[in-house]
Amino acid sequence: IHLSKATFTLSAPDIRRLPEDSGIEVAFAGRSNAGKSSALNTLTNQRGLARVSKTPGRTQLINIFEVAPNRRLVDLPGYGFAKVPIEMKKKWQKALGEYLEKRDCLKGLVILMDIRHPLKDLDMDLIQWAADSDLPILALLTKCDKLSQGKRSAEVLQVKKALASLNADITVQAFSSLKYTGLETANDLICQWLSA
Ligand code: GDP
Repeated sequence: IHLSKATFTLSAPDIRRLPEDSGIEVAFAGRSNAGKSSALNTLTNQRGLARVSKTPGRTQLINIFEVAPNRRLVDLPGYGFAKVPIEMKKKWQKALGEYLEKRDCLKGLVILMDIRHPLKDLDMDLIQWAADSDLPILALLTKCDKLSQGKRSAEVLQVKKALASLNADITVQAFSSLKYTGLETANDLICQWLSA
């Protein structure tokens, strides 16, 4: 599996419009502006794959990228951004919830959190849900280039500590799309999930 082979397949407003629920999917989720699109672009080594937006909250659809036959990366709607109409927010959050709950081919969840403010309520909800569902988690602490090496390590430790009691399969990794920090670890784990 090579993530650089990813090609855009489709965007869907809800799970009924997705490809058949077979094969393996690895999904990316995070608060709006956490750096999800940037991480997808970096991992696939394709600048324009997922849209990077200066306007948070724009990624409202479920975007599917095929990496190999029946092996897909899934860009889930960002959550937690305040400045969108409540009706729109409900709709996106519904698509996210439905995907997580109903998609059998989901085999791994990448959760993106800004390293400067990780583990917000909605992040914790998602992590708790994945843990309860026995779904392996890769927590990428994004934009780590914004912190010194010392603060970065301290933050990773703190997040690991906070999640330890869940007894779940969670990998915590500092990540930077700008500096490629954590790229290899993330790539290897995602490819492992997609190869199972
Ligand atoms: P999304 O809403 O989660 O898809 O987030 P984006 O990928 O669109 O990124 C949100 C903002 O954070 C953009 O202005 C990016 O340029 C910036 N950003 C994303 N990743 C990094 C990173 O690794 N380092 C830095 N310094 N900025 C980043």
